[in-house]
Amino acid sequence: MLSDSFGREVSGVRVSLTDRCNFDCVYCHNEGLGDTRGPMDARDHEMSADDVVRFLEVVEEFGVEKVKLTGGEPMLRDDLEEIIERTPDSIEVSMTTNGTFLPGRAEDLVDAGLERVNVSQDALDAEDFQALTKSGAYEKVLEGVRAAVDAGLDPVKLNMVVFRKTAGYVPEMVDHVAENDALQLQLIEYMPEIAGHPEWAVDIDDVHGWLEERADRVEHREMHDRRRYYVNGGMVEIVDPVGNEEFCANCHRVRVTHEGYLKGCLNRNDDLRSMGEMSKAEIREAFRETVENRVPYYGEYMVENGDGGWEVNDDYVEVYADGGTESAD
Ligand code: SAM
Repeated sequence: MLSDSFGREVSGVRVSLTDRCNFDCVYCHNEGLGDTRGPMDARDHEMSADDVVRFLEVVEEFGVEKVKLTGGEPMLRDDLEEIIERTPDSIEVSMTTNGTFLPGRAEDLVDAGLERVNVSQDALDAEDFQALTKSGAYEKVLEGVRAAVDAGLDPVKLNMVVFRKTAGYVPEMVDHVAENDALQLQLIEYMPEIAGHPEWAVDIDDVHGWLEERADRVEHREMHDRRRYYVNGGMVEIVDPVGNEEFCANCHRVRVTHEGYLKGCLNRNDDLRSMGEMSKAEIREAFRETVENRVPYYGEYMVENGDGGWEVNDDYVEVYADGGTESAD
C-alpha cells in the first residue's frame, strides 16, 4: 500500500462518476447546478466505464481495498452496474446516493457487487425536504431506502448534513434509526470551506454533547477519528472534519473527479493531477505522484493563525506574477 510523507496509507478511493444531479441541495458544493436530470448516458467529459475500471485495476495493484462511488448523483449513470460488476473482486464497493433511483435498481446493484450504501436524507418531512434539496422526491427517497434494505444492503446509512437548516431535525432522525434496525445515521458536519455560507455552521461539539447525554454506549474509531453513539438501540456516527487535525491525520482516501483528475484532498482544487489518456502506465505514475504529494489539510496545508482561525501555510502559497508561477518560499 502506498503511503504519503505523513505516514498515511492510501487504502481507499472515492470516485465521482458524474457532476450531474437531479437534486440541487442548498448545502452542496455542487450548489447551482440546478436540475440536470438525464441523459443517463455518460457525457463526453465524464470518465467512461472502461476508464473507471482501468483506474480501479491499477489501484488494486497498490493494495487499495475500498472504493466509494459518488457524484453528482452516481445513479444517473446507466453503466453503474457494469462499473460495479467489473470492479476487481478484492475492492469493496460502496456508494453515496440521493436514493431516488434505488427503487427497481437496488437488487441489480447488489447482484453486481455493491456492498454498502449511504443515502442522503436530511429531513423526515416532505416540505422541509423540498426546501433543502429543491426536489419533490421525498417519497421516492423513502422508497429508495426501503428498496436498499430489501435488496439486502444492511446497514443502510442515512447521511444528514448538520447545519442551521437541519440541526432541529437531529432528534427525530436519531429516533428514526433507533426504530429501524437496518438503518444507521451518519451526521456530517457542514463544510463551509467548499459550500460557502460559514454563518450556516453549527458547533458540532454541541451535537456530540447532546448524543453523549443520551447514549448507552460511545465508541471512538481511532482510525477515522469518528465517534459512534448507541442511542436506544440505534447507531449514530458523527463525521466532523472541519478544523479537525486528527481527522486529516487519519485520512486514507484519494479522490477522482468525474473528468478523471486525481485529487488528494476534498478541500483543495490546486492539487488536481491528470491521468492523461488513462493508460495503465499513466494512471500508475499519476497515482504515485498524488500520494507522494498529499498533505493533511488542517494542520499542514492550513495552519492556525493564533486568533482561533486558519490560514494557508506559506509553504503552499503560489505567487502568480507576469503570467508565471513561482513558489512563495
Ligand atoms: N448525490 C449523492 C448524494 O446525494 O448523496 C452523492 C453526492 S453528495 C455530494 C455526497 C455527500 O456529500 C452527501 O452525503 C452530502 O450529504 C455530502 N455533502 C455535500 N455538501 C456538503 C457540505 N457542504 N458539507 C458536508 N457534507 C456535504
